Amino acid sequence: AKDSGRGNRQFYQPGMDVRAMEVLQQERLLREAIADNAFVLHYQPQICLKDGTLRGFEALVRWRHPVRGLVGPIEFIAFAESRGLITPIGRWVLHEACRQLKAWQDEGLALVPVAVNLSALEFRQRDVAGEIAAALQATGLAPQYLEIELTESVLMHQTGQVLDTLQALKDLGVGISIDDFGTGYSSLAYLKRYPIDKLKIDRSFVMDTPGSADDVAIVTAIVQMGRSLQLKTVAEGVETAEQMALLRRLDCDLVQGHLVSEPMDAPAIRQWLLGPSA
Ligand code: C2E
Ligand code: CA
Ligand code: CA
Ligand code: CA
Repeated sequence: AKDSGRGNRQFYQPGMDVRAMEVLQQERLLREAIADNAFVLHYQPQICLKDGTLRGFEALVRWRHPVRGLVGPIEFIAFAESRGLITPIGRWVLHEACRQLKAWQDEGLALVPVAVNLSALEFRQRDVAGEIAAALQATGLAPQYLEIELTESVLMHQTGQVLDTLQALKDLGVGISIDDFGTGYSSLAYLKRYPIDKLKIDRSFVMDTPGSADDVAIVTAIVQMGRSLQLKTVAEGVETAEQMALLRRLDCDLVQGHLVSEPMDAPAIRQWLLGPSA
């Protein structure tokens, strides 16, 4: 047993030190990645259900890991948050998305907005509105080409600060979407309190449609509520033609999912923007 210094004994557990060293090693690698900007954004198209036209992209971050190749955000965002390393990553994502869109615009490509994810922790810790204004200013991207995706956990805090930040984004002209809608805290009060533009229906509700009557009912209700509140609805994780047909029948506005396209790197998206003739 080791003495922790406060008189209580800690028993040695085999594997504990190994685990602790792995965490430190991972943290060291992530710090290096931040210093080297060893991240890349992939973009997933959102298309209009009525006419099939491209209406936006969601930017999704990946880590170019020295050993493991491209590592998805599920594997490092929460870890980065726990080690206090999310802020520089989030800043990079925001700046890179704005920079890329402006570069496409300067090339003469027809632009659609890009959506950037912000976790609840990022929203609490960072001067989100100030940073977004700075990123737009630095890159020259017009605010209508930027959207922010927030989860419900951001909005359930009834603080004036949340409202002030969202209002500041609105005043800037940046769009606001609620991500993973329906999976968080079930207060709907925030829908009228905050200046929101879009509801993104979580993949877990879309996944088992049209087979599951319960899920069809939930998706139907969300689309109808969105329409009544004049919010655009986006269905996430659409994988089958049957799901797409149901969503079209329900008059959902936009779809995003593997049926249309997986997230793609910037060169592939550029080809998409150039059109079929390119
Ligand atoms: P999310 O915001 O809900 O993003 C959608 C996730 O679903 C993405 O996973 C996307 O690749 C995946 N997806 C899209 N269409 C389909 C489909 O048809 N079927 C299935 N099975 N999956 C689909 P990804 O890229 O692994 O991102 C996971 C999560 O990581 C995101 O979930 C988001 O919460 C977070 N994330 C991604 N990028 C960032 C970022 O820059 N900042 C922060 N804070 N979080 C991020
Ligand atoms: Ca998202
Ligand atoms: Ca989502
Ligand atoms: Ca999700």
